[in-house]
Amino acid sequence: MKILVGAIGHESNTFTPFLTSLEDFRPRYGQACLEMPRRHGAFGGIVTTLQTGGAELVPTVSAHAMPGGKVARSAYEKLKSALLENARDVDGVCLFLHGAMRAEGVDYCENEFVKALRVQLGPDVPITLALDMHANIVAETIANVDALVAYHTAPHVDTYETGQRAAELLLDRLTGRARPTMGFAKIPFLLPGEKAVSAAGAMGEMMQQVADLESRPDILSASLMNGHCWADVPDIGVIVVVVTDGDAALAQAEANKLAAAFWARRADFDFRVEAYPVDQAVEAAMMASESTVFLSDSGDNPGAGGTTDVTAVLASLLQHHAENVVVASIWDKDAAAACVAAGVGSEVSLEIGGKLDTQHGKPLPVTGTVRLISDGNYYWGGVREPERLFNRGTTVVLSVEGVDVILTTERQSYVEPAQFQSLGIDPLAYKIVVPKRGYLTAPLEAISPHSILAVTPGVTNCDVTQLSYQRVHRPMYPLDLDATWEPD
Ligand SMILES: [Zn+2]
Repeated sequence: MKILVGAIGHESNTFTPFLTSLEDFRPRYGQACLEMPRRHGAFGGIVTTLQTGGAELVPTVSAHAMPGGKVARSAYEKLKSALLENARDVDGVCLFLHGAMRAEGVDYCENEFVKALRVQLGPDVPITLALDMHANIVAETIANVDALVAYHTAPHVDTYETGQRAAELLLDRLTGRARPTMGFAKIPFLLPGEKAVSAAGAMGEMMQQVADLESRPDILSASLMNGHCWADVPDIGVIVVVVTDGDAALAQAEANKLAAAFWARRADFDFRVEAYPVDQAVEAAMMASESTVFLSDSGDNPGAGGTTDVTAVLASLLQHHAENVVVASIWDKDAAAACVAAGVGSEVSLEIGGKLDTQHGKPLPVTGTVRLISDGNYYWGGVREPERLFNRGTTVVLSVEGVDVILTTERQSYVEPAQFQSLGIDPLAYKIVVPKRGYLTAPLEAISPHSILAVTPGVTNCDVTQLSYQRVHRPMYPLDLDATWEPD
């Protein structure tokens, strides 16, 4: 049993003012993509499950880039040809694809990948996919694959299991244990992930309905994808996929039922933590009784494509004379270089941020003291093993009045305590920690005594009505609050 495997992950924000390059994906081709240092993600689940099931793997590519702007056309073409190159004489295909990748001139990259594989392999080779919960798939993708499953959690803590399920569905199909058939519905709703955390609220209740469906013997799998709302592409929304064993009518009926229930709850999706506009959020953080407050700068979240150079929260913190604060982080090569040139202990006056996302921010003039210069080396998870060593580029900590600003030479996402600790920073020693995040990642949430979300300007603004969508199909909730919709 020969199975083609691969993984391509990118969440492309069409409002982000720069392209994502091939280099950003750090692609591994062929056999090298199986030699992963980490076997914990969806692709790890796929590979391990298929190998355990006795399959011979035909590896293609494993490529993951931090969410950012649209993918350069040449990078998209290269990744697509890597998927197709050895796609012949195989019995099946199992891929992890994020599901929200857009390239220059290509609105639905994953659809193009799958379509090309289907054309090359013919109609009889089964294809299954594992997807992110923030995927935006289109009807044509459903027509070209045999089954797909998406993460059931946000923050994502079931990535491995999702890969495992996609691989199991393929093995079931290949061994004749099941004949997966899908039902699909798409709801016209731009829903930020911050209002769709899976463990609570309206999304929590919807995910309970998914779990109830999956506990039924006549349902193989059910997925609810809230999509990636920061993309101005026509065919976008919240997606339901139900997989049955050969019963197309049942799959579609259950997908429609779940989609109708979701639409009926559309006004109930809301933030799960306190959320305020910038100044109010800063004031709430300063007044909080807890020793440390995590204040998310949600409009400039690199986890969804943010530039990490919008200075709105920093400006407000300085205006409010907030003290004992760390801001993680602002991407500004020039400012970091000026700090390095001045040296540790020097006082510098310079403008930081506001150079990439010029629409939602401007450079902020500050005077501060260079506290630390780091080579950017960092052990993922804080475990000092060679394969966990990442270099994040020269990183500077600049103390401006009571605020320690982490300035980076590469765009970074602070997702776990070890990143702070690599700079000698204990986040819990600060009164306010400002990660550029929406909802906190699981490792940050685990240590956060109190979380506040600031609804801030930027390309990941949680108030989607503040962004200028030109191409999305209308009506689209909440751009059109009076929109009506029902499943086909
Ligand atoms: Zn996601």
